[in-house]
Amino acid sequence: SAVRAVTVLGATGSIGDSTMDLLRASPDRYQVEALTANTNVVGLAKLAKEFDARFVAVADPNLLEDLEDALAGTGTECGAGESAIIDAASRPADWVMAAVSGAAGLKPALAAVDRGATVALANKECLVCAGDFFMERAAKAGACILPADSEHNALFQALGSGNREELVRVIITASGGPFRTWASADIEQATLAQALKHPNWSMGQKITIDSASMMNKGLEVIEASYLFALAPDEIDVLVHPQSIIHGMVEFSDRSVVAQLGAPDMRTPIAHCLGWPDRIVGPAAKLDLAKIGQLTFEAPDFGRFPGLRLAYDALRTGNGATTVYNAANEVAVAAFIAGKIRFGAIARLVEATMDAWIRSGNLAPLTSADDAIDVDHSARNRAATLLPQIAA
Ligand code: NDP
Ligand code: MG
Repeated sequence: SAVRAVTVLGATGSIGDSTMDLLRASPDRYQVEALTANTNVVGLAKLAKEFDARFVAVADPNLLEDLEDALAGTGTECGAGESAIIDAASRPADWVMAAVSGAAGLKPALAAVDRGATVALANKECLVCAGDFFMERAAKAGACILPADSEHNALFQALGSGNREELVRVIITASGGPFRTWASADIEQATLAQALKHPNWSMGQKITIDSASMMNKGLEVIEASYLFALAPDEIDVLVHPQSIIHGMVEFSDRSVVAQLGAPDMRTPIAHCLGWPDRIVGPAAKLDLAKIGQLTFEAPDFGRFPGLRLAYDALRTGNGATTVYNAANEVAVAAFIAGKIRFGAIARLVEATMDAWIRSGNLAPLTSADDAIDVDHSARNRAATLLPQIAA
């Protein structure tokens, strides 16, 4: 089959790493068009050499010289700054992995979408931030959005077994994170080291903290709503500590179709890379006899208020999910910096959303600039509220 040109945005991260691993397994099938990072020049240059990338970019504008030095004599073109990341996404790759973390991934993802690429979307924050128009814009450009997030990838696979009109609801599973069995008072005081100890998945720092607060599941409820045009009450969350079933779809005849797999992101990414065909996946074979049992629990909205707030944001719409995401990014950064307690993450998100709604700012978002404006104002508002939440 023909060689496919591929681009990986966020190539030096955890998802980037899994993606490069899949490309590494079949070097003759893929030509790397562009790779990007934020500041990790060393990691990016190493990948650029290994994969003979045509173009690489770092988001930090001060690192251009370092990157050029690291790649001197290789023929790889270098760029730096936010616009260089967008340039990377705009280059002619057939398949783009969008795996920048946070709302910073929005403009690059849209650049890939606008030229009608097949986009494997890992960066959930960008969809949460621009949900009002992201999918519409993809449809207009003829871009194909393939969900790389494991739960949404599971739903995408399971949805194929029925028609949209026959769909009753979707269920996304959650491991419950490291604090699944903890009392509220202990969650309140949890340390960074405790929040970073995820029971099943190995992921980037931000998403690992979001898993501990269940904000990650909240972001995923919103992500599912926008990806598949679902109402909030068509999306259920089910705690499933083994992380083997990733998502399920219930149809009108009460059939429930599930997708299973070991907790290894290379499986959903391999699905995106192979789609509409299947490629050989590197994850370990699923051995259910060895796992023994799969268990389930209802999510606890009391101990994990971040999950409840996601449904509130989704029902409010008009930019509220953008505010939810922005406030959470500020809160997580403040928690990492030791400025707030773990329990204050959800309180800051709630206070920011309340203030936003009370100030009458709700309005539909129609462009990336709209979404970025709301994102920036919500960050400022969260930063203003931070001292009183921290007190
Ligand atoms: P990481 O933090 O491991 O990696 C993030 C990547 O984005 C790195 O390449 C980083 O570069 C780059 N980056 C960070 N900030 C910027 C910026 N401002 N501009 C440009 N590039 C930037 O994150 P993950 O790989 O864990 O997650 C990536 C996305 O995928 C997130 O949206 C996450 O929610 C989603 N996701 C992740 C899963 C996982 O298992 N990890 C599962 C499902 C979804 P540098 O290395 O230089 O810092
Ligand atoms: Mg997920």
